[in-house]
Amino acid sequence: MNVASQVLRPRHFASDNYAGICPEAFAAMVEANLGHEVSYGDDSWTEKASNLLREIFEINCEVFFVFNGTSANSLSLASLCQSYHSILCHQMAHVESSECGAPEFFANGTKVLLLPGEAGKVDPTSIQGAVNKRTDVHYPKPRALSLTQATEVGTVYSVAELGALSEVARRYNLRVQMDGARFANAVVGLGVAPKEITWKAGVDVLCFGGTKNGIAIGEAVVFFNLEAAREFDYRCKQGGQLASKMRFLSAPWVGMLQNGAWLRHAAHSNAMAKRMELAIKDLPGIGVPYPVESNAVFARIPDDVVQAMFARGWKFYTNVGGWEESRLMCSWDTTTEDVDGFAADLKELATAKAAGR
Ligand SMILES: *Cc1c(COP(=O)(O)O)cnc(C)c1O
Repeated sequence: MNVASQVLRPRHFASDNYAGICPEAFAAMVEANLGHEVSYGDDSWTEKASNLLREIFEINCEVFFVFNGTSANSLSLASLCQSYHSILCHQMAHVESSECGAPEFFANGTKVLLLPGEAGKVDPTSIQGAVNKRTDVHYPKPRALSLTQATEVGTVYSVAELGALSEVARRYNLRVQMDGARFANAVVGLGVAPKEITWKAGVDVLCFGGTKNGIAIGEAVVFFNLEAAREFDYRCKQGGQLASKMRFLSAPWVGMLQNGAWLRHAAHSNAMAKRMELAIKDLPGIGVPYPVESNAVFARIPDDVVQAMFARGWKFYTNVGGWEESRLMCSWDTTTEDVDGFAADLKELATAKAAGR
């Protein structure tokens, strides 16, 4: 492929994992490639990345780098539970809908129990119901609460909402795990210090997503509960998640964290989503069902208009997780032209449909 065709390759709204590697992460990988380094995580890049995470969270935490979000979620949840326990999560949670049973598998049978809640967020009152439904030995004992921040529909739990949830979790002796595949977008969306929505809000372990923020491969598992991190290195190794050339998982984090690129990229993708929302929300026949608080816009788009958009070459997911909405996801490299071009096509097609053309 020549350079021109690469430059012209179109950007899409299907997922933030359609985007490539951001320059800061790429530069760090190039630098990490300059010579030999110690393997299996005992290298200077991994130490530096871990220390940067401790700085950002303003606390001594235990850090592990793994290949993807499914393993980060599954292994961290397994570290909180015994096989006879259960994990509570929202019914739309990635842990439930998109991980092929990996949390149950890696926790040796721990059952995932589903909770309701508006706009992709767990309703705190539903936790009580799930915990008290049965308290006898025949029911899998609830032990962990998994929260997705930002949620599967792009909404964000506020500091107060997290406080209320963790208060309930503490009352019932539930540990709190956070699926932060889009944690950076949530931090920027809320405009808070990372500690306010993690350990200060009762989170025991955070799966901090790097991939969708602009890294090639990899997520950081950040334990604020140091006891829960005990022997997690063995769990990673057994789960096939200990990279021998670990520096290539950790170096990009140095690139992202050392000069705030993770926040800049998240702020940009959030801004692009907001621009998209404003451009399409009042188009005829189009609805935006959830508040846009991160880098996702969910839109109700009539099926024939969806098909016409696909025919024009746009890629985006419909019926994500079995729901009726289309999902438009912005990335670190989404441009205003991309958004405006998409919105212009949608306007033309939606308007034509409304006019019966
Ligand atoms: C993308 C995503 C993950 C991670 O998925 P992998 O494909 O396993 O990396 C986890 N949680 C949520 C909410 C996601 O969107």
